[in-house]
Amino acid sequence: MSDTIKYLLDEGQIPKTWYNIQADLPKPAPAVLHPGTHQPIGPSDLAPLFPMELIMQEVSTEREIDIPEPVRQVYRQWRPSPLYRARRLEAVLKTPAKIYYKYEGVSPSGSHKPNTAIPQAFYNREAGVKRLVTETGAGQWGSSLAFAGCVFDLAVQVFMVRVSYNQKPYRRALMETYGATCIASPSDQTQSGRAILAQRADHPGSLGIAISEAVEIAAQRDDTKYALGSVLNHVLMHQTIIGQEAMIQMEMAGDFPDVIVGCTGGGSNFAGIVFPFLGAQLRGGRKVRIVAVEPAACPSLTRGQYAYDFGDTAHLTPLTKMHTLGSTFTPPGFHAGGLRYHGMAPLVSHLLELGLIEATAYHQIACFDAGVQFARAEGIVPAPEANHAVRGAINEAIRCREEGKSQTILFNLCGHGHFDMQAYIDYFSGNLKDIKYDEAELAMALAGLPSMKEAA
Ligand SMILES: *Cc1c(COP(=O)(O)O)cnc(C)c1O
Repeated sequence: MSDTIKYLLDEGQIPKTWYNIQADLPKPAPAVLHPGTHQPIGPSDLAPLFPMELIMQEVSTEREIDIPEPVRQVYRQWRPSPLYRARRLEAVLKTPAKIYYKYEGVSPSGSHKPNTAIPQAFYNREAGVKRLVTETGAGQWGSSLAFAGCVFDLAVQVFMVRVSYNQKPYRRALMETYGATCIASPSDQTQSGRAILAQRADHPGSLGIAISEAVEIAAQRDDTKYALGSVLNHVLMHQTIIGQEAMIQMEMAGDFPDVIVGCTGGGSNFAGIVFPFLGAQLRGGRKVRIVAVEPAACPSLTRGQYAYDFGDTAHLTPLTKMHTLGSTFTPPGFHAGGLRYHGMAPLVSHLLELGLIEATAYHQIACFDAGVQFARAEGIVPAPEANHAVRGAINEAIRCREEGKSQTILFNLCGHGHFDMQAYIDYFSGNLKDIKYDEAELAMALAGLPSMKEAA
């Protein structure tokens, strides 16, 4: 039996800056456009929703952005997070590959999400904001922002996608434990929610709908701002603390990844581990293969169109160019609720277009097969979302075995599955099904993409 090896850093090694990949892109990402005029938006267009510090981060091309000391203080509770060498998994797989994983499940809410929830709450508090409103899929973002609201004394209201609200009562209880209010979406509390319910009273909800509800509330109230847990540039940037730490830890291990694997919902944990390595490559460093893994039932990168689209269903947000399944697309209710978003982060989409990353999609049973194999070898039960990264990493390790290659694989284990055991119960009882999205609905959602005027 080979032992697990753990690479730990000191608190003093928590990075002092976030890394902004926009400084190193060979070609800038397409502009964000106003939904009415189709002209590029300016910072003031976003001011009703976000505090100015976050808006400036969103558009910044500075390579390094200082992490405020109060944010680093909070990060200290669980950062630097450990990097492990999965020796027992390697043995089970009989692979010549070396498998490393960065574990983000050590945060208070059990995922990478507090890495951005904490700074977002901090900047809002500094700007005098009293309440934050947001959406959540599986509940990881809602519980992370609820925790951040406790730390910086902000009230937090969460619209939770109805299918997850029903599937995951413990996540809801966690948000309420942190003092947040949690509402099933679509709800009767907003115009966008009521419009959806009028069409279909038992609508399961989607992240796109929940975003509309949260944005609508934030736009109406002066003391309230909106917070998004993924997709936006500043959110991805906050997550780069993961990859920066991992770079130091890989150096401690005397190793360097040939391939990095991450799961992609909106793209933030993937960007978090990948961007610092990719940035080094873009500045002339070593080349790394990068694989994004998404659910086959909501395949924005592998099946979506690269086009301008809305971030939400009610079309309240600006237009961003991204890989999208169409803003009206409702993915089926599979268990990785955090991966049920119709679009992909513009920066991740742009990197796929530039050929700097690869994307692949798997169905959920194959992902749970991998997650259970991982748990039995390494002891950590991954979140259903993270199982996609585990599947991707194991497949790379199997490829290495078949090709007789000893490569180094690094993946992001972005959260634990302790609140998702119902999904594992369904898996063991044979009730987990590989759900196909509705092709007709996808075609309709894609046909409904906004038609763009010149130049965009
Ligand atoms: C939210 C979440 C995701 C999906 O979001 P990304 O922005 O793509 O990271 C994936 N895994 C876990 C554990 C999550 O909480």
